[in-house]
Amino acid sequence: MSLNPKRTVAELKELRELTADENGAQRVAWTDVWQKARKWFATKLVGLPIEHHYDAAGNNWVTLRGASDKTLLIGGHLDSVPNGGWLDGSLNVLAGLEVLRRYAAEFKGKPPVTIRLVDWADEEGARFGRSLLGSSAFAGTHSIAADRVRTDKDGITMEDALRRCGVHMDHFPEAEKERANAAAYIELHIEQGPVLEKLGLPLGAVLGTKGVERHAITFHGQEAHSGATPMKQRRDALAAAAKLALEIRNIAGKHSDAVCTMGSLKTFPGIVTAVVGRCEATLDQRDLDAKVLAQMYREAQEASKRFASEENCTVEWSRIWSIEPIRFHSHLIDLCEQAVREISGNSHRLPSGPLHDAAEVSRAGIPTVMMFVQSLRGISHNKIEDTREEHLEMSVTALDRLATETVDWILKAN
Ligand SMILES: [Zn+2]
Repeated sequence: MSLNPKRTVAELKELRELTADENGAQRVAWTDVWQKARKWFATKLVGLPIEHHYDAAGNNWVTLRGASDKTLLIGGHLDSVPNGGWLDGSLNVLAGLEVLRRYAAEFKGKPPVTIRLVDWADEEGARFGRSLLGSSAFAGTHSIAADRVRTDKDGITMEDALRRCGVHMDHFPEAEKERANAAAYIELHIEQGPVLEKLGLPLGAVLGTKGVERHAITFHGQEAHSGATPMKQRRDALAAAAKLALEIRNIAGKHSDAVCTMGSLKTFPGIVTAVVGRCEATLDQRDLDAKVLAQMYREAQEASKRFASEENCTVEWSRIWSIEPIRFHSHLIDLCEQAVREISGNSHRLPSGPLHDAAEVSRAGIPTVMMFVQSLRGISHNKIEDTREEHLEMSVTALDRLATETVDWILKAN
């Protein structure tokens, strides 16, 4: 039995059939549909010479023991956002399963190194707003105290929801045991953006995940009557915010891969007959280079102060969340690029804007790389998320090639 990428596509469709409705995939972590997806996945393991278990954080591990304890990890996530796409996360898992099957067959159940496939628990954070939960437990970067009291829209705490699935948050640190012998981590993912499609390339090697600065910015002016207040005497908080919304394009535009987004803007009192007295905005800034990220943050702060003063307003900033950029392992990036070139004839290196479990694994010090496959229209987290079947098949073959090259590297390096 050799690698069969067509089977991966067929299994992705099977999973979609089982866990999507007319609005898209509904495999939200810690829900019944997600558990159904995991049970279905377990049926695919029957007959393989593997060990299967869930760790203390609910991560789903499939282990094919090799001649060496040194281990290649291949990862993905079966959970989705509500009304999500059919490929985000599940392509990674099912392509990884195909690679594992190939190793089991080719080496009669005993590959040169141990191969482990992991389906991370709750990558998306869709229900409780905490992404990368299972992989952070694995990496030892979890935040149990802050997370256990998070609630979903029905008021159920994260701790209770996890307990219902047999996961006790107190035991999270035990998931760190799974790091033993891990020599490398590889992950295939849909790009979720338009870059590869624009370039006409099926596959790309991922340099790392961008760091994020996420802030709430509030401009304070003065509410005033829209009829009675002359234009020159206004302290219009929205005017200051609007200037910043345009300026962030210039701030990001100085750097080739940087992005800045003002995704939310609320005006108070927010009625048609009043000058805006208070305007609450959010800003999300991302880049792979920590220096660029710091510069963009500083420039946005300076610009906000300038615009506030021009409009006779004041401004305050508060950090919502931030994470440093994570650069993947340089030699594994080379191997990934090589695999992409061999399978698709071309190669391209690109950073990832979205975060992925691979970032947590890399933070734990395990050599890590990701491979992207083109997304049609650059759309993800939506039922129209799609990738050409020929590209999906190509991505399975390229992941398999990357696995082979990485195993060779593990054997040589150790
Ligand atoms: Zn994903």
